[in-house]
Amino acid sequence: NELADRVSAAIRDVPDFPKPGILFKDITPVLQDGDLFNTVIHYFCERYESLNITKVVGIESRGFIFASAIAHELSTGLVLIRKPGKLPYQTIGVDYSLEYGTDRVEMHVDAVQKNERIVIVDDLLATGGTMGAGIELCKKAGANVVEAGFLIQLDFLDGVKNLHGVPTHSLIHF
Ligand code: IMP
Repeated sequence: NELADRVSAAIRDVPDFPKPGILFKDITPVLQDGDLFNTVIHYFCERYESLNITKVVGIESRGFIFASAIAHELSTGLVLIRKPGKLPYQTIGVDYSLEYGTDRVEMHVDAVQKNERIVIVDDLLATGGTMGAGIELCKKAGANVVEAGFLIQLDFLDGVKNLHGVPTHSLIHF
């Protein structure tokens, strides 16, 4: 589709960031283009507006940008999933494994109520470790995770297998 082509063209590949050998997909050009950013947010809002979503959950840190704009347009609440130690109040968390070591995501204990219909949003799906843990966290809070939405999905890493069977949608695939 036309929007996917525009976003693909805007994404900038940055070699060896943040480490040698990694080709980083830089989404900031999408944000810098007012019409493109607006159209991307509308695209996701159209998907979600008739699904009785009560909260949009964003994953630190680029996920916040998209989740925030979508929540604003849908007039839903916004929930932040953050790296450990960042949230000021009492949290619940989920640990997940990385290639070397482990990481953790946290949310406030009162951020999501039982049976709330939520969507979780991030900029990019790679191995699925981050979103998998985010989904687990929302489920732990009793939420009904309606969809995991991404701007970009790296198909060759097969991250969908770590998303606990939650439906996913990505605007573009590489
Ligand atoms: P995963 O946990 O391996 O799926 O990695 C996804 C997480 O890492 C997301 O929160 C992304 O923001 C971030 N990430 C990984 N690779 C890239 C990239 O190439 N561009 C932007 N973000 C990335």
